[in-house]
Amino acid sequence: MISLALFTFVCSSGQVQQATPPAAPTPTPRPVDPNRMSPGMTEIWNPEVTIIQPGTKDSDAPSDAIVLFNGMDISQEWTDRRGNPSRWIVADGALISVRGAGDIKTKRTFSSFQLHIEWRTPAEVTGEGQGRGNSGVFLQERYELQVLDSYNNRTYRNGQAGSIYKQFTPLVNVCRKPGEWQTYDIIYTAPTFNKDSTSYFTPPRVTVLQNGVLIQNNVSIRGPMEYIGIPEYFVKPHGAGSLVLQDHTNPVAYRNIWIREL
Ligand code: MG
Repeated sequence: MISLALFTFVCSSGQVQQATPPAAPTPTPRPVDPNRMSPGMTEIWNPEVTIIQPGTKDSDAPSDAIVLFNGMDISQEWTDRRGNPSRWIVADGALISVRGAGDIKTKRTFSSFQLHIEWRTPAEVTGEGQGRGNSGVFLQERYELQVLDSYNNRTYRNGQAGSIYKQFTPLVNVCRKPGEWQTYDIIYTAPTFNKDSTSYFTPPRVTVLQNGVLIQNNVSIRGPMEYIGIPEYFVKPHGAGSLVLQDHTNPVAYRNIWIREL
C-alpha cells in the first residue's frame, strides 16, 4: 500500500491517475563461488534428448536413418550421373558396379551426415595397384574416399583404400581379403565458403572408420578430388550434393547403405 501510494497522485481535474513505476534495475550478476555450488546448478534437463531406436546390430540402420540401398531396389534412390536409370546390377542383395555404366549418384542431396556403407572387392584378383578393385565413395559428389583392394597390393599411399584420394593417407591399412565384406563409417561436415568463392571459410571435414578402426581422424579436406593437379586450385562454392559411387571398371559390390543427416 505504501509503494502504491508513492505512484498515485491527484490531477488538477481531481481524477486519480496511476504513474508508470520506474523499471527495476538490472541485477548485477554475482560471481559464482565454486565452493558454494550444488550439483543441480550444472545439470541441463530440457529439452530432452531425442530418442531413436538403434539397429539390432551396430551396422544396422537406426530408426532415423535414410536407407539408400536395402538389398533389392536401386531405382528408388539412385541414378547415373546424368539422372538416367543406372545400369549397375543388383545380385544377392548387393549393388554391383558395371564396367562402362558410369558412376551412380543418389537422387537426394546431403550436407553434413553420418554414412554407413559396406563394400567388397572381387574375390578373383585381377590387375594390380589402382587397377585392382577400384571404386570410390564421393562425398557431396566431389571428395573421394577411395575404395580399393589394398590387401597385399601396393600403390601410392595417398591412393590406397581408406585414403581421401591424393590428399590424406589412412592411418592404418586394415583391409580384409579380396571377396570379404568391409565397412566404412563416415562422419562428414560440409564446408562453408569465403566471399571470394575460391577458398573455404571452413573446409569440409571427415572422420572415417574402416571395419571399426579409425583411419581418418577429422581431417580438413583440401579441395575436390583431382587426379592431376592441386586440390586447392579447384575449390568452388557448392551446396548440398549427392553421394556418388564410382565405376572404375572393376566390379565392386556395395550393400547396407544408410545415412543420417546432421
Ligand atoms: Mg577410386
